[in-house]
Amino acid sequence: MSEGMDSPLPFRGGAGGGAGYETVPLPTAPTPTPPLKGRGYRDDFPGLLNADGTPWHYLDSAATAQKPRAVIEAVARAIGPDYATVHRGVYSRSAEMTLGYEAARRRVAAFIGGREDELVFTRGATEAINLVAYSYPQKGRVLLSELEHHSNVVPWQLAGWQVDVCPLTPDGRIDLDAAERMLTKDHVMVAFAHVSNVLGSLLDVRRAADLAHAVGAKLLVDGCQAVPRLPVDVAALHCDFYAFSGHKLYGPTGIGALWARRELLDAMPPWQGGGAMIERVTFEKTTFAPPPQRFEAGTPAIVEAIGLGVACDYVAGIGLEAIHAHEATLVARLREALRGMNDVTVFGPEESAGIVSFAIDGIHPHDLGTILDEESVAIRAGHHCAQPLMERLGVSATARASFGLYSDEDDVAALLRGIERARRIFG
Ligand code: PMP
Repeated sequence: MSEGMDSPLPFRGGAGGGAGYETVPLPTAPTPTPPLKGRGYRDDFPGLLNADGTPWHYLDSAATAQKPRAVIEAVARAIGPDYATVHRGVYSRSAEMTLGYEAARRRVAAFIGGREDELVFTRGATEAINLVAYSYPQKGRVLLSELEHHSNVVPWQLAGWQVDVCPLTPDGRIDLDAAERMLTKDHVMVAFAHVSNVLGSLLDVRRAADLAHAVGAKLLVDGCQAVPRLPVDVAALHCDFYAFSGHKLYGPTGIGALWARRELLDAMPPWQGGGAMIERVTFEKTTFAPPPQRFEAGTPAIVEAIGLGVACDYVAGIGLEAIHAHEATLVARLREALRGMNDVTVFGPEESAGIVSFAIDGIHPHDLGTILDEESVAIRAGHHCAQPLMERLGVSATARASFGLYSDEDDVAALLRGIERARRIFG
């Protein structure tokens, strides 16, 4: 963070984690230590440096977030001196690891205001949505929106659902008035992104839940881009399913979660079979463990789950309100600067969560990305796994800058310098 910038991030967060998996406090209280002057949170993230020690301006956190030292160290410990399998071992190391894995479940569930017996660990949001698409006992019509990520489109198609598409408002939000008009008693499910990975637009989840419930449908929320950026409380949101990935939440890859109301999980059959999800197996008949284990076939991602638990503590220690306000400041500055360039189109609503998509006349986003890379600035260029949205916007690709809690004014300035250079080169 630049010297003198009035940051809404009030303090450095507690690192979370630590020895003794069974003594994990819930939720983690913020640690009121003042910010490192002029550096914000960057020093917690070794990934934000180039090999020569100069800053890397990483503006692709919507794709995946860099990891704080607390997570890196927790992962190293869990895969090193603490490592053993879970749930099966009779020896003490395994029992300790099981405590760590289940404590991670408690921590992740608490992070989104849910109960641990309602939280299924998955490989990520993609697997969480597939789980519901395949396992929900009643298949029928699902209402999606024009801005959904492919992982909230393709699973429904593959699992045999009939897909309806809710349009967007002119500024790029899911049009809930249109959803209200479209929803019928035939709809079984509504599945919307909480925050668009392209436009940063925010969903009024509470209203979407009310609309779904009014016709007897359930609401699944793709929370991938929301959990690192906004306070999320599944109980207050009234949704039925909430899916997200750990690696966008400053945790490891290969881990994510599906939260669902317990009675819905109870009614859902398993979708993958194997060890750990059974009660009793014979060749004639198998009975299954209760949720969440019913949906966690095989040896789970033990190390990754523990890392995600620590990531949740780290983020909670800083505070989601503060992170949201901080990213909103950076979004506002970037949007304002881009608006001043007459050859630039900025997509999406003014009020967006940490993500800005734009296009520059005469410069393909991939070319822009390459030039920015020479300036140590990393953005995303492409369709962002949202081809239907690209069609709606009338483009084949956009450039996307996305912020994290460690992003700062210097990152915005470096991006703007790089854009100026690209305009000169192509100008
Ligand atoms: N939904 C949204 C909104 C996303 O941004 C992403 C990741 N880009 C996904 C779903 C899929 O997440 P993952 O690839 O981690 O399963």
